[in-house]
Amino acid sequence: MDKIFDLIVVGGGPAGLTACLYARRFGLEVLLIEKLTLGGTINLTDRVDNYPGFPEGISGKELGNLLADHCLAYDTETVYDEVKRVTAENGFFIITGEYNNYQSKSLIYCTGTKPKTLGIAGEDRFFGKGVSFCAACDAYMFKDKEVAVIGGGDSAVVEAIYLASLCSKVYIIHRRNQLRAVKSLQDKLVKMENISIVWNSIPLRIVGEKEVTGLEIKNVKTEEIASIPIKGVFIYVGETPQTELVKNLVNLDENGYILTDESMQTSTPGLFVAGDVRKKPFRQIVTAVSDGAIAAFSAYLYLEELKR
Ligand code: NAP
Repeated sequence: MDKIFDLIVVGGGPAGLTACLYARRFGLEVLLIEKLTLGGTINLTDRVDNYPGFPEGISGKELGNLLADHCLAYDTETVYDEVKRVTAENGFFIITGEYNNYQSKSLIYCTGTKPKTLGIAGEDRFFGKGVSFCAACDAYMFKDKEVAVIGGGDSAVVEAIYLASLCSKVYIIHRRNQLRAVKSLQDKLVKMENISIVWNSIPLRIVGEKEVTGLEIKNVKTEEIASIPIKGVFIYVGETPQTELVKNLVNLDENGYILTDESMQTSTPGLFVAGDVRKKPFRQIVTAVSDGAIAAFSAYLYLEELKR
């Protein structure tokens, strides 16, 4: 741990990659630490139709690669390591990874969110064998088969539309009688003949012996219980912010998202947060990259102030 970086960015999704790109342009010595793959969860999204500059839409993987290439074009030092601990000591940030330790004068934390689970019978048991949180990864296993998507938000609808292009039938199980997803997605959805929405219903258990054979659901209005014969269940019931490593250094809102001011500054000087892990009104790729740029600018100003 000899080198002290000006800035460490934890998380290589759109927010982190943009933070690095801007920080490098400000002339900062930057280290990007990513656990798995640059691009983040957009790599798992089939299509992105609302990122400005791509009027025809773009695949999530392609956009993730372009953001990563743009970041690396500025010679951003990058390591693949899983961060286990973050501490702030005497004005420095010490990052303990699985393989190495790292040190910096400022930190931008961009770890995003992870999918919420349902906590119903069969969810754990059939995970990877009929239960999935990623249609782009697993849809091929259900080609020409019937599947269920749980949830009524943007993710559920985007992924249901993708699944409908491969699967024979897609049931959307939603707990209310109105979708949360934006209108443009709902308009696309109604055009898909092989998608059926099951309103006012919640999943009770995922049924099967060796493989998934059905989903038991309950109508929350009538209390009626029904069984749908499906081979796969895709769960999109929202996200949980990944704050575990910094929760002692920041303030969180009632849902666990990190509070920042408009410069992305947290309650610890020099610690900035960008992207979906932050409390904000609108979680989109475009707002994540915006956060990343602002956080990098704020880190630059913070470091300039330290020199005075
Ligand atoms: P979300 O907007 O929080 O929607 C979660 C959905 O799951 C809601 O419909 C919710 O029902 C339902 N739900 C929650 N808990 C449930 C439970 N225990 N049982 C059954 N249903 C449950 O989450 P998201 O769709 O993953 O989206 C996360 C963020 O990413 C949002 O800000 C979204 O706009 C953004 N996003 C944007 C795009 C895009 O612009 N193309 C794509 C994907 C995601 P209720 O509606 O009744 O609460």
